[in-house]
Amino acid sequence: MKSERRKIKTPKSINREIVKHFLMLAVILVLLVESVFLIITSSSANSTAREQLMRIGRDVASLTDGHNDSALLRYMRNCREDGFAVYIVAPDGKVILPLEEAEEVGFSNEIEDIKSRLIKAGRGGSVIYTANDNLNYVASVNFYGEKILVASYSLLITRNTMRRLIIYFTIVGVIAITLCGLISYVVSQKLSGGLKNLSSCAERFSKGDFNVDFANSEYLELAVLSDTLNSVRDEVKKSGDFQRELLANVSHDLKTPLTMIKAYASMIREISGNNPEKRDKHLQVIIDEADRLTGLVNDVLNVSKVNSTLNQINPKVFNLTEFVYGIINKFEYLQETQGYSFMVDIDANLYTRADEEKISQVIYNLLGNAVNYTGEEKTVYISLKKDLAGDRITLKIRDTGKGISKEDLPEIWNRYYRVNETHSRPVKGTGLGLNIVKIILQNHKFDFGVDSELGKGSTFWVDFPEVPAEIQ
Ligand code: ADP
Repeated sequence: MKSERRKIKTPKSINREIVKHFLMLAVILVLLVESVFLIITSSSANSTAREQLMRIGRDVASLTDGHNDSALLRYMRNCREDGFAVYIVAPDGKVILPLEEAEEVGFSNEIEDIKSRLIKAGRGGSVIYTANDNLNYVASVNFYGEKILVASYSLLITRNTMRRLIIYFTIVGVIAITLCGLISYVVSQKLSGGLKNLSSCAERFSKGDFNVDFANSEYLELAVLSDTLNSVRDEVKKSGDFQRELLANVSHDLKTPLTMIKAYASMIREISGNNPEKRDKHLQVIIDEADRLTGLVNDVLNVSKVNSTLNQINPKVFNLTEFVYGIINKFEYLQETQGYSFMVDIDANLYTRADEEKISQVIYNLLGNAVNYTGEEKTVYISLKKDLAGDRITLKIRDTGKGISKEDLPEIWNRYYRVNETHSRPVKGTGLGLNIVKIILQNHKFDFGVDSELGKGSTFWVDFPEVPAEIQ
Protein backbone atom coordinates (compact mmCIF):
# COMPACT_ATOMS: atom_id res chain seq x y z
CA MET A 1 0.00 0.00 0.00
CA LYS A 2 1.24 3.41 -0.90
CA SER A 3 1.66 5.66 2.01
CA GLU A 4 -0.18 8.88 1.43
CA ARG A 5 1.29 12.07 2.72
CA ARG A 6 -1.23 14.75 3.21
CA LYS A 7 0.07 18.26 3.24
CA ILE A 8 -1.73 20.28 5.84
CA LYS A 9 -1.88 23.81 4.61
CA THR A 10 -2.50 26.65 6.99
CA PRO A 11 -5.59 28.47 5.73
CA LYS A 12 -4.87 31.84 4.22
CA SER A 13 -6.69 35.01 5.15
CA ILE A 14 -8.96 36.21 2.33
CA ASN A 15 -8.27 39.79 3.38
CA ARG A 16 -4.53 39.44 3.10
CA GLU A 17 -4.74 37.49 -0.17
CA ILE A 18 -6.94 40.11 -1.84
CA VAL A 19 -4.74 43.01 -0.72
CA LYS A 20 -1.54 41.13 -1.70
CA HIS A 21 -2.79 40.33 -5.20
CA PHE A 22 -4.19 43.81 -5.76
CA LEU A 23 -0.85 45.34 -4.72
CA MET A 24 1.10 42.96 -6.96
CA LEU A 25 -1.14 43.84 -9.87
CA ALA A 26 -0.79 47.57 -9.16
CA VAL A 27 3.04 47.36 -8.97
CA ILE A 28 3.24 45.37 -12.22
CA LEU A 29 0.92 47.80 -14.00
CA VAL A 30 2.76 50.89 -12.73
CA LEU A 31 6.17 49.46 -13.73
CA LEU A 32 4.86 48.38 -17.11
CA VAL A 33 3.24 51.72 -17.91
CA GLU A 34 6.28 53.67 -16.66
CA SER A 35 8.84 51.67 -18.63
CA VAL A 36 6.80 51.77 -21.84
CA PHE A 37 6.29 55.50 -21.42
CA LEU A 38 9.97 56.18 -20.67
CA ILE A 39 11.19 54.08 -23.61
CA ILE A 40 8.82 55.82 -26.02
CA THR A 41 9.68 59.28 -24.62
CA SER A 42 13.44 58.81 -24.77
CA SER A 43 13.47 57.34 -28.28
CA SER A 44 11.13 60.03 -29.59
CA ALA A 45 13.28 62.78 -27.94
CA ASN A 46 16.35 61.37 -29.73
CA SER A 47 14.70 61.14 -33.11
CA THR A 48 13.23 64.67 -32.73
CA ALA A 49 16.75 66.01 -31.95
CA ARG A 50 18.11 64.22 -35.06
CA GLU A 51 15.40 65.69 -37.29
CA GLN A 52 16.01 69.15 -35.82
CA LEU A 53 19.77 68.88 -36.49
CA MET A 54 19.14 67.85 -40.08
CA ARG A 55 16.72 70.72 -40.58
CA ILE A 56 19.30 73.14 -39.10
CA GLY A 57 21.85 71.73 -41.59
CA ARG A 58 19.53 72.41 -44.51
CA ASP A 59 18.60 75.93 -43.28
CA VAL A 60 22.22 76.97 -42.62
CA ALA A 61 23.32 75.66 -46.05
CA SER A 62 20.69 77.74 -47.78
CA LEU A 63 21.55 80.86 -45.69
CA THR A 64 25.31 80.54 -46.38
CA ASP A 65 24.67 79.91 -50.07
CA GLY A 66 22.63 83.14 -50.15
CA HIS A 67 25.36 85.06 -48.21
CA ASN A 68 22.70 86.34 -45.88
CA ASP A 69 25.07 86.76 -42.89
CA SER A 70 22.81 88.71 -40.54
CA ALA A 71 19.93 86.30 -41.08
CA LEU A 72 22.37 83.46 -40.51
CA LEU A 73 23.52 84.95 -37.20
CA ARG A 74 19.92 85.48 -36.06
CA TYR A 75 19.11 81.93 -37.01
CA MET A 76 22.10 80.60 -35.06
CA ARG A 77 21.04 82.55 -31.95
CA ASN A 78 17.47 81.22 -32.19
CA CYS A 79 18.86 77.70 -32.42
CA ARG A 80 20.86 78.24 -29.26
CA GLU A 81 17.69 79.28 -27.43
CA ASP A 82 16.20 75.92 -28.45
CA GLY A 83 19.25 74.11 -27.04
CA PHE A 84 21.13 73.62 -30.32
CA ALA A 85 24.69 74.98 -30.58
CA VAL A 86 25.52 75.91 -34.22
CA TYR A 87 29.01 76.92 -35.46
CA ILE A 88 30.68 77.65 -38.77
CA VAL A 89 34.21 76.29 -38.37
CA ALA A 90 37.34 76.88 -40.47
CA PRO A 91 39.22 73.82 -41.79
CA ASP A 92 41.75 74.28 -38.94
CA GLY A 93 39.06 73.95 -36.26
CA LYS A 94 38.68 77.66 -35.40
CA VAL A 95 35.18 79.03 -34.94
CA ILE A 96 34.29 81.66 -37.57
CA LEU A 97 30.66 82.22 -36.65
CA PRO A 98 29.41 83.33 -34.18
CA LEU A 99 32.41 85.44 -33.74
CA GLU A 100 31.80 86.22 -30.07
CA GLU A 101 32.31 82.56 -29.24
CA ALA A 102 35.50 82.16 -31.28
CA GLU A 103 37.61 82.77 -28.17
CA GLU A 104 35.97 80.19 -25.95
CA VAL A 105 35.01 77.46 -28.39
CA GLY A 106 37.33 75.69 -30.76
CA PHE A 107 37.32 72.39 -32.56
CA SER A 108 41.08 72.01 -33.15
CA ASN A 109 41.09 68.71 -31.21
CA GLU A 110 38.11 67.23 -33.02
CA ILE A 111 38.63 68.74 -36.49
CA GLU A 112 40.60 65.79 -37.87
CA ASP A 113 37.94 63.36 -36.69
CA ILE A 114 35.22 65.60 -38.19
CA LYS A 115 37.05 65.83 -41.51
CA SER A 116 37.59 62.09 -41.77
CA ARG A 117 33.86 61.49 -41.06
CA LEU A 118 32.97 63.99 -43.80
CA ILE A 119 35.36 62.31 -46.25
CA LYS A 120 33.68 58.99 -45.54
CA ALA A 121 30.25 60.57 -46.13
CA GLY A 122 31.44 61.77 -49.59
CA ARG A 123 31.27 65.13 -51.30
CA GLY A 124 28.54 67.44 -50.07
CA GLY A 125 27.57 64.86 -47.44
CA SER A 126 26.70 65.26 -43.78
CA VAL A 127 27.10 63.05 -40.74
CA ILE A 128 25.21 62.67 -37.45
CA TYR A 129 27.05 60.98 -34.62
CA THR A 130 27.20 60.87 -30.83
CA ALA A 131 30.29 62.01 -28.94
CA ASN A 132 30.89 63.35 -25.39
CA ASP A 133 27.19 63.32 -24.41
CA ASN A 134 26.39 65.34 -27.54
CA LEU A 135 24.46 64.50 -30.65
CA ASN A 136 26.54 66.16 -33.41
CA TYR A 137 25.72 67.08 -36.96
CA VAL A 138 28.60 68.04 -39.30
CA ALA A 139 28.42 69.08 -42.94
CA SER A 140 30.51 70.99 -45.48
CA VAL A 141 29.15 74.48 -46.20
CA ASN A 142 30.14 77.23 -48.55
CA PHE A 143 30.75 80.29 -46.35
CA TYR A 144 33.27 82.43 -48.12
CA GLY A 145 35.06 79.29 -49.18
CA GLU A 146 34.73 75.74 -47.96
CA LYS A 147 33.89 75.65 -44.25
CA ILE A 148 32.37 73.14 -41.86
CA LEU A 149 29.02 73.40 -40.11
CA VAL A 150 29.02 71.89 -36.65
CA ALA A 151 25.61 71.70 -34.88
CA SER A 152 25.23 69.84 -31.65
CA TYR A 153 22.55 68.98 -29.13
CA SER A 154 23.47 68.04 -25.59
CA LEU A 155 22.05 64.62 -24.68
CA LEU A 156 22.29 65.71 -21.04
CA ILE A 157 19.13 67.76 -21.64
CA THR A 158 17.21 64.62 -22.62
CA ARG A 159 18.75 62.68 -19.72
CA ASN A 160 17.76 65.39 -17.22
CA THR A 161 14.24 65.45 -18.57
CA MET A 162 14.10 61.67 -18.30
CA ARG A 163 15.43 61.77 -14.75
CA ARG A 164 12.74 64.27 -13.80
CA LEU A 165 10.10 62.15 -15.48
CA ILE A 166 11.26 59.09 -13.52
CA ILE A 167 10.92 61.05 -10.26
CA TYR A 168 7.38 62.19 -11.19
CA PHE A 169 6.46 58.69 -12.23
CA THR A 170 7.79 57.22 -9.00
CA ILE A 171 5.69 59.65 -6.97
CA VAL A 172 2.58 58.99 -9.08
CA GLY A 173 3.30 55.22 -8.94
CA VAL A 174 3.61 55.22 -5.14
CA ILE A 175 0.36 57.19 -4.83
CA ALA A 176 -1.40 54.79 -7.24
CA ILE A 177 -0.14 51.70 -5.41
CA THR A 178 -1.13 53.14 -2.01
CA LEU A 179 -4.60 54.00 -3.32
CA CYS A 180 -4.90 50.52 -4.79
CA GLY A 181 -3.87 48.99 -1.46
CA LEU A 182 -6.45 51.09 0.39
CA ILE A 183 -9.26 50.29 -2.04
CA SER A 184 -8.46 46.58 -2.02
CA TYR A 185 -8.38 46.65 1.81
CA VAL A 186 -11.82 48.28 1.96
CA VAL A 187 -13.21 45.81 -0.63
CA SER A 188 -11.70 42.81 1.16
CA GLN A 189 -13.06 44.02 4.51
CA LYS A 190 -16.53 44.32 2.98
CA LEU A 191 -16.37 40.86 1.41
CA SER A 192 -14.88 39.10 4.38
CA GLY A 193 -17.23 41.00 6.72
CA GLY A 194 -20.17 39.20 5.05
CA LEU A 195 -18.36 35.85 5.32
CA LYS A 196 -17.40 36.43 8.97
CA ASN A 197 -21.01 37.26 9.75
CA LEU A 198 -22.19 34.06 8.06
CA SER A 199 -19.62 31.93 9.85
CA SER A 200 -20.46 33.37 13.28
CA CYS A 201 -24.17 32.70 12.54
CA ALA A 202 -23.25 29.15 11.46
CA GLU A 203 -21.39 28.66 14.73
CA ARG A 204 -24.42 29.77 16.74
CA PHE A 205 -26.58 27.50 14.60
CA SER A 206 -24.26 24.54 15.21
CA LYS A 207 -24.72 25.13 18.95
CA GLY A 208 -28.49 24.74 18.55
CA ASP A 209 -29.64 28.33 18.14
CA PHE A 210 -32.40 27.91 15.53
CA ASN A 211 -33.43 31.57 15.68
CA VAL A 212 -30.21 32.70 14.09
CA ASP A 213 -30.67 34.81 10.94
CA PHE A 214 -28.15 34.32 8.16
CA ALA A 215 -28.63 37.98 7.21
CA ASN A 216 -28.73 38.77 3.53
CA SER A 217 -25.57 40.25 2.14
CA GLU A 218 -25.43 43.02 -0.48
CA TYR A 219 -23.35 40.67 -2.65
CA LEU A 220 -25.25 38.26 -4.86
CA GLU A 221 -23.14 35.14 -4.15
CA LEU A 222 -23.25 35.69 -0.39
CA ALA A 223 -26.97 36.45 -0.54
CA VAL A 224 -27.55 33.10 -2.29
CA LEU A 225 -25.48 31.36 0.41
CA SER A 226 -27.45 33.17 3.18
CA ASP A 227 -30.74 32.09 1.61
CA THR A 228 -29.55 28.49 1.39
CA LEU A 229 -28.36 28.51 5.00
CA ASN A 230 -31.64 30.08 6.14
CA SER A 231 -33.60 27.32 4.43
CA VAL A 232 -31.27 24.67 5.91
CA ARG A 233 -31.95 26.21 9.34
CA ASP A 234 -35.72 26.11 8.71
CA GLU A 235 -35.56 22.49 7.55
CA VAL A 236 -33.49 21.40 10.56
CA LYS A 237 -35.83 23.27 12.87
CA LYS A 238 -38.89 21.76 11.22
CA SER A 239 -37.43 18.28 11.31
CA GLY A 240 -36.56 18.71 15.02
CA ASP A 241 -40.09 19.95 15.78
CA PHE A 242 -41.62 17.12 13.80
CA GLN A 243 -39.46 14.52 15.51
CA ARG A 244 -40.48 15.84 18.91
CA GLU A 245 -44.10 15.76 17.80
CA LEU A 246 -43.67 12.22 16.47
CA LEU A 247 -42.20 11.08 19.75
CA ALA A 248 -45.09 12.65 21.60
CA ASN A 249 -47.63 11.02 19.23
CA VAL A 250 -46.07 7.59 19.43
CA SER A 251 -45.76 7.68 23.20
CA HIS A 252 -49.32 8.90 23.49
CA ASP A 253 -50.55 6.13 21.17
CA LEU A 254 -48.58 3.55 23.16
CA LYS A 255 -49.96 4.81 26.43
CA THR A 256 -53.66 4.30 25.59
CA PRO A 257 -53.54 0.52 24.88
CA LEU A 258 -51.19 0.01 27.82
CA THR A 259 -53.62 1.75 30.17
CA MET A 260 -56.47 -0.34 28.80
CA ILE A 261 -54.52 -3.58 29.17
CA LYS A 262 -53.63 -2.73 32.74
CA ALA A 263 -57.19 -1.70 33.61
CA TYR A 264 -58.79 -4.83 32.16
CA ALA A 265 -56.18 -7.13 33.69
CA SER A 266 -56.95 -5.61 37.12
CA MET A 267 -60.65 -6.01 36.46
CA ILE A 268 -60.20 -9.72 35.68
CA ARG A 269 -58.19 -10.20 38.88
CA GLU A 270 -60.59 -8.32 41.08
CA ILE A 271 -64.03 -8.65 39.49
CA SER A 272 -64.53 -10.96 36.54
CA GLY A 273 -62.04 -13.72 37.36
CA ASN A 274 -64.80 -16.11 38.37
CA ASN A 275 -67.32 -15.03 35.78
CA PRO A 276 -66.29 -16.80 32.53
CA GLU A 277 -68.49 -14.67 30.27
CA LYS A 278 -67.26 -11.34 31.60
CA ARG A 279 -63.70 -12.62 31.88
CA ASP A 280 -63.69 -13.67 28.18
CA LYS A 281 -65.02 -10.25 27.17
CA HIS A 282 -62.34 -8.51 29.21
CA LEU A 283 -59.67 -10.86 27.89
CA GLN A 284 -60.79 -10.03 24.33
CA VAL A 285 -60.27 -6.33 25.06
CA ILE A 286 -56.77 -7.12 26.30
CA ILE A 287 -56.06 -9.17 23.13
CA ASP A 288 -57.40 -6.38 20.87
CA GLU A 289 -55.36 -3.73 22.64
CA ALA A 290 -52.26 -5.93 22.51
CA ASP A 291 -52.88 -6.31 18.75
CA ARG A 292 -53.12 -2.53 18.41
CA LEU A 293 -49.88 -2.20 20.29
CA THR A 294 -48.20 -4.77 18.03
CA GLY A 295 -49.52 -2.91 14.97
CA LEU A 296 -48.12 0.36 16.24
CA VAL A 297 -44.73 -1.12 17.05
CA ASN A 298 -44.68 -2.80 13.62
CA ASP A 299 -45.39 0.54 11.97
CA VAL A 300 -42.49 2.20 13.74
CA LEU A 301 -40.21 -0.74 12.90
CA ASN A 302 -41.35 -0.68 9.26
CA VAL A 303 -40.57 2.99 9.04
CA SER A 304 -36.97 2.51 10.10
CA LYS A 305 -36.56 -0.61 7.95
CA VAL A 306 -38.01 1.13 4.91
CA ASN A 307 -35.82 4.14 5.49
CA SER A 308 -32.63 2.11 5.49
CA THR A 309 -33.50 0.22 2.28
CA LEU A 310 -35.49 2.91 0.50
CA ASN A 311 -32.96 3.49 -2.22
CA GLN A 312 -32.52 -0.16 -3.18
CA ILE A 313 -34.99 -1.18 -5.84
CA ASN A 314 -35.30 -4.72 -7.23
CA PRO A 315 -37.74 -4.39 -10.09
CA LYS A 316 -39.47 -7.35 -11.70
CA VAL A 317 -42.54 -7.88 -13.85
CA PHE A 318 -45.68 -8.91 -11.97
CA ASN A 319 -49.46 -9.00 -12.29
CA LEU A 320 -50.56 -5.68 -10.82
CA THR A 321 -54.25 -6.57 -10.99
CA GLU A 322 -53.85 -9.57 -8.69
CA PHE A 323 -51.41 -7.70 -6.53
CA VAL A 324 -53.91 -4.87 -5.84
CA TYR A 325 -56.71 -7.35 -5.18
CA GLY A 326 -54.42 -9.16 -2.72
CA ILE A 327 -53.85 -6.01 -0.72
CA ILE A 328 -57.54 -5.01 -0.73
CA ASN A 329 -58.38 -8.48 0.66
CA LYS A 330 -56.18 -7.83 3.65
CA PHE A 331 -58.38 -4.84 4.50
CA GLU A 332 -61.45 -7.07 4.43
CA TYR A 333 -61.60 -7.39 8.22
CA LEU A 334 -62.54 -3.69 8.31
CA GLN A 335 -65.49 -4.49 6.07
CA GLU A 336 -66.71 -7.18 8.46
CA THR A 337 -65.92 -5.57 11.79
CA GLN A 338 -66.34 -1.84 11.19
CA GLY A 339 -68.64 -1.52 8.21
CA TYR A 340 -66.16 -0.14 5.67
CA SER A 341 -66.82 -0.81 2.00
CA PHE A 342 -64.35 -0.92 -0.87
CA MET A 343 -65.71 -0.11 -4.35
CA VAL A 344 -63.36 -1.50 -6.99
CA ASP A 345 -63.08 -0.89 -10.72
CA ILE A 346 -60.06 -2.90 -11.76
CA ASP A 347 -59.03 -3.99 -15.29
CA ALA A 348 -58.02 -7.64 -15.61
CA ASN A 349 -54.49 -8.88 -16.25
CA LEU A 350 -52.45 -5.71 -16.08
CA TYR A 351 -48.70 -6.25 -15.76
CA THR A 352 -46.08 -3.79 -14.62
CA ARG A 353 -42.39 -3.75 -13.75
CA ALA A 354 -41.50 -2.51 -10.25
CA ASP A 355 -40.22 -3.54 -6.84
CA GLU A 356 -43.16 -5.59 -5.51
CA GLU A 357 -42.34 -5.18 -1.84
CA LYS A 358 -41.92 -1.41 -2.09
CA ILE A 359 -45.06 -0.98 -4.21
CA SER A 360 -47.03 -2.98 -1.65
CA GLN A 361 -45.88 -0.45 0.94
CA VAL A 362 -47.13 2.38 -1.29
CA ILE A 363 -50.56 0.82 -1.81
CA TYR A 364 -50.90 -0.13 1.89
CA ASN A 365 -50.10 3.41 2.94
CA LEU A 366 -52.51 4.99 0.44
CA LEU A 367 -55.32 2.55 1.28
CA GLY A 368 -54.63 2.88 4.99
CA ASN A 369 -54.87 6.68 4.72
CA ALA A 370 -58.05 6.50 2.64
CA VAL A 371 -59.61 4.30 5.36
CA ASN A 372 -58.34 6.53 8.15
CA TYR A 373 -59.42 9.80 6.60
CA THR A 374 -62.60 8.89 4.72
CA GLY A 375 -66.04 10.31 5.63
CA GLU A 376 -69.13 9.09 7.41
CA GLU A 377 -70.18 6.60 4.72
CA LYS A 378 -66.90 4.75 5.24
CA THR A 379 -66.37 4.06 1.56
CA VAL A 380 -63.10 3.85 -0.35
CA TYR A 381 -63.00 3.70 -4.17
CA ILE A 382 -60.15 1.89 -5.89
CA SER A 383 -59.61 1.91 -9.64
CA LEU A 384 -56.83 0.40 -11.74
CA LYS A 385 -57.13 1.34 -15.41
CA LYS A 386 -55.03 1.11 -18.52
CA ASP A 387 -54.80 4.50 -20.29
CA LEU A 388 -55.93 4.94 -23.90
CA ALA A 389 -52.41 5.06 -25.32
CA GLY A 390 -51.85 1.72 -23.64
CA ASP A 391 -48.47 2.39 -22.04
CA ARG A 392 -49.58 3.34 -18.56
CA ILE A 393 -51.76 1.93 -15.81
CA THR A 394 -53.26 4.40 -13.37
CA LEU A 395 -54.10 3.40 -9.83
CA LYS A 396 -56.57 5.73 -8.09
CA ILE A 397 -57.54 5.51 -4.44
CA ARG A 398 -60.38 7.86 -3.57
CA ASP A 399 -62.04 8.63 -0.26
CA THR A 400 -64.95 10.88 0.62
CA GLY A 401 -63.41 12.43 3.68
CA LYS A 402 -62.67 16.03 4.61
CA GLY A 403 -60.08 16.44 1.89
CA ILE A 404 -56.85 18.39 2.20
CA SER A 405 -56.56 22.17 2.09
CA LYS A 406 -54.54 23.89 -0.67
CA GLU A 407 -51.93 25.01 1.89
CA ASP A 408 -51.45 21.47 3.21
CA LEU A 409 -51.37 19.76 -0.20
CA PRO A 410 -47.68 20.38 -0.97
CA GLU A 411 -46.70 19.62 2.64
CA ILE A 412 -48.30 16.20 3.17
CA TRP A 413 -45.45 14.48 1.29
CA ASN A 414 -42.91 15.82 3.77
CA ARG A 415 -41.52 13.67 6.53
CA TYR A 416 -43.43 13.85 9.84
CA TYR A 417 -46.07 16.17 8.40
CA ARG A 418 -49.55 15.70 9.83
CA VAL A 419 -52.53 17.95 9.30
CA ASN A 420 -53.89 19.04 12.65
CA GLU A 421 -57.45 17.77 12.57
CA THR A 422 -59.62 15.13 14.08
CA HIS A 423 -60.42 12.17 11.88
CA SER A 424 -63.21 9.61 11.49
CA ARG A 425 -61.08 6.83 12.99
CA PRO A 426 -58.70 7.48 15.86
CA VAL A 427 -55.66 8.00 13.66
CA LYS A 428 -52.47 6.48 14.92
CA GLY A 429 -50.34 7.88 12.10
CA THR A 430 -46.75 8.96 12.33
CA GLY A 431 -46.66 11.44 9.45
CA LEU A 432 -44.14 9.24 7.67
CA GLY A 433 -46.42 7.23 5.37
CA LEU A 434 -46.69 9.67 2.47
CA ASN A 435 -43.02 10.57 2.73
CA ILE A 436 -42.16 6.90 2.25
CA VAL A 437 -44.63 6.72 -0.68
CA LYS A 438 -42.95 9.73 -2.26
CA ILE A 439 -39.40 8.37 -1.91
CA ILE A 440 -40.34 4.93 -3.28
CA LEU A 441 -42.21 6.35 -6.30
CA GLN A 442 -39.49 8.90 -7.02
CA ASN A 443 -36.88 6.12 -6.99
CA HIS A 444 -39.04 4.22 -9.47
CA LYS A 445 -39.42 7.43 -11.52
CA PHE A 446 -43.21 6.90 -11.53
CA ASP A 447 -45.62 9.84 -11.77
CA PHE A 448 -47.90 10.26 -8.79
CA GLY A 449 -49.99 12.89 -7.05
CA VAL A 450 -53.15 13.85 -5.25
CA ASP A 451 -56.29 15.75 -6.19
CA SER A 452 -58.26 16.96 -3.25
CA GLU A 453 -61.04 19.32 -2.39
CA LEU A 454 -61.97 20.35 1.14
CA GLY A 455 -65.21 18.66 2.21
CA LYS A 456 -65.32 16.34 -0.79
CA GLY A 457 -62.41 13.96 -0.30
CA SER A 458 -59.10 13.12 -1.89
CA THR A 459 -57.89 10.99 -4.78
CA PHE A 460 -54.33 9.72 -4.61
CA TRP A 461 -53.01 8.39 -7.95
CA VAL A 462 -49.94 6.56 -9.26
CA ASP A 463 -48.98 5.86 -12.88
CA PHE A 464 -47.32 2.46 -13.47
CA PRO A 465 -45.64 1.56 -16.75
CA GLU A 466 -47.57 -1.17 -18.54
CA VAL A 467 -45.70 -4.30 -19.58
CA PRO A 468 -47.52 -6.32 -22.31
CA ALA A 469 -48.83 -9.67 -20.94
CA GLU A 470 -47.04 -11.66 -23.70
CA ILE A 471 -43.66 -10.69 -22.19
CA GLN A 472 -44.51 -13.07 -19.32
P1 ADP B 1 -50.08 9.76 8.84
O1 ADP B 1 -49.34 8.66 9.43
O2 ADP B 1 -50.31 10.92 9.75
O3 ADP B 1 -51.30 9.37 8.09
P2 ADP B 1 -49.05 10.36 6.23
O4 ADP B 1 -47.70 10.75 5.78
O5 ADP B 1 -49.63 9.10 5.69
O6 ADP B 1 -49.04 10.35 7.79
O7 ADP B 1 -50.01 11.54 5.90
C1 ADP B 1 -49.63 12.84 6.21
C2 ADP B 1 -50.85 13.70 6.46
O8 ADP B 1 -51.54 13.88 5.24
C3 ADP B 1 -51.83 13.04 7.39
O9 ADP B 1 -51.54 13.36 8.73
C4 ADP B 1 -53.15 13.65 6.96
O10 ADP B 1 -53.37 14.86 7.62
C5 ADP B 1 -52.93 13.92 5.48
N1 ADP B 1 -53.58 12.88 4.67
C6 ADP B 1 -53.03 11.78 4.15
N2 ADP B 1 -53.91 11.06 3.43
C7 ADP B 1 -55.09 11.73 3.51
C8 ADP B 1 -56.40 11.51 2.98
N3 ADP B 1 -56.73 10.46 2.23
N4 ADP B 1 -57.36 12.44 3.26
C9 ADP B 1 -57.08 13.52 4.01
N5 ADP B 1 -55.86 13.78 4.56
C10 ADP B 1 -54.86 12.90 4.29
